[in-house]
Amino acid sequence: MPIIDIESNLGEELDLQAFAHRMDQEGVALIAFSGIARGRGWSDAARYAVAADPWRYIPAGDGGLPPDWKRNPTGFAKVSKERIISDGYPMMGEYEFRHYPSPDQIQRGNMERDEYLPIDSPAGHQLFQFSEESGISFQIHQEIEDQYLPQLEKMLAQYPKAKVIWCHLAQMRYQARNTVYGPDYVRKLIEQYPNLYFDLFSGPPDHIYPGSKEYPGKYWDRTTGKLKPEWAKLIADHPWRFMTALDLNPFIMQEFSRKVGMQRAVLDSLPVPVREIVAYKAAWKLLFNEEI
Ligand SMILES: [Zn+2]
Repeated sequence: MPIIDIESNLGEELDLQAFAHRMDQEGVALIAFSGIARGRGWSDAARYAVAADPWRYIPAGDGGLPPDWKRNPTGFAKVSKERIISDGYPMMGEYEFRHYPSPDQIQRGNMERDEYLPIDSPAGHQLFQFSEESGISFQIHQEIEDQYLPQLEKMLAQYPKAKVIWCHLAQMRYQARNTVYGPDYVRKLIEQYPNLYFDLFSGPPDHIYPGSKEYPGKYWDRTTGKLKPEWAKLIADHPWRFMTALDLNPFIMQEFSRKVGMQRAVLDSLPVPVREIVAYKAAWKLLFNEEI
């Protein structure tokens, strides 16, 4: 079964030829390729990748990552909008609002990417408004935590046509900060907000987040290595709202096969009729408004 990866930040040093073979071996049909501006304002990396290998990449705008996004959020949101329009990107990248240091950064001793930009800040409004006007989706990284849910819901209610992909379903790094989020809450959001989507990236079931020493992948049943039934049921009931994601970045490309395996374990947990929707059809429909 082919899969479309809706969310990866791939570096400019990627060996596209070698990687094409790895994608083919793993049955990854397309990757939404998001570039990394790295202080230059914008990268154009996705456009170069698509120019070099148009069959394997969907161009996504640069992600909202430090330093560009952090230094000047409204400026980066403005550049995003201009580039998305002028260069015809079908989607925007992942913008970090609340973001704890990622595991691979902690391993490298980099604790600085502990980001907080309120989602209802001016830059957040710019992104929601542009998405609402254009119909182009954008991705958010927002750690799951009680205190941030009202801000997000406020924005979803204010911009009901904005297409938002909340990345990393059920990735909860600090359980004690959460009393609300779970399959029932996500179901409520889906029913209430018609343009809210989720990407399904998660680390493996036994992954421990080094910052909290907890298992962040809350949708996993760690004994079976499959989805817990309540999460599988939620996805099966609303399959067009969930998309496969690998969340690659240049530091973890050696984990490509393992990450594909994790997403295939998610798909294998779902009823057969919805697997293809979650694997690639939902992504295609969101981006191109076409059922394949
Ligand atoms: Zn993320």
